[in-house]
Amino acid sequence: MYHFVAAFLVLLLGLVIGSFANTLIHRLPRRLSIVRPGSYCPHCETPLTADEKIPVLSFLTLGGRCSHCKEKISPRYPLVELGNALGWLGVFFRFGFSFESVVGCLLFTGLLAAALIDVEHGIIPNGLTVGLLMIGFAASFYPFGLGPLDSLLGVLVGGGLLLIFALLGKLIFKREAMGGGDLKLLAAAGAFVGWREVLLAAFIAVVLGAIVGGVRWAVTGERELPFGPFLAVGAMTAYLAGGIILDWYLSL
Ligand SMILES: [Zn+2]
Repeated sequence: MYHFVAAFLVLLLGLVIGSFANTLIHRLPRRLSIVRPGSYCPHCETPLTADEKIPVLSFLTLGGRCSHCKEKISPRYPLVELGNALGWLGVFFRFGFSFESVVGCLLFTGLLAAALIDVEHGIIPNGLTVGLLMIGFAASFYPFGLGPLDSLLGVLVGGGLLLIFALLGKLIFKREAMGGGDLKLLAAAGAFVGWREVLLAAFIAVVLGAIVGGVRWAVTGERELPFGPFLAVGAMTAYLAGGIILDWYLSL
């Protein structure tokens, strides 16, 4: 019962911060302030009333339309809120009431925002990657945390690895295979997981990206693919299960 109530609270908080993730996704790539003004309709910019700001529920009661201009609201809004809440619940089930859970939830929301901004705009804003990196590095000082040395090595290995990929890509394919935002995102992930797990994160991202990119290329002929979502999946997997996966791999 106690656990159920705690999970419910994590879910609620995840919905509220998911709503903030929507603000990040909309405003960061447009270089708008993320604190002011309060939430507004993205079409007519009318400020939302208090009962229009309730995560998921408001979207449903409004029938997916702005109450003012009646323009359709993207289903991305409730989906991001729901996705963030479920992600937080997953982190909570993995680490319980702990510092690792708090840090993991912040990482999840940051990665979610980075992935979706990359899909929509083809960039990952510095505000997000540098912010994440600083949170990860600060968290490493926690007594049972990663430790600042491993965190720093994670940044260098993560960023350095993608820098090598990017240079090789340029040399072999004569085009930009990876952006600076990707590089900074993996460096930020490295600050959270350390140098060994960040290698795992990169490996997962490259394998998934190659599979999805290959299938997409075969079906649509489209070659460009934002790499951010794959890095996000790789980084989150490394944070949640990196130790377990690496122990298993090294025991083979
Ligand atoms: Zn409107």
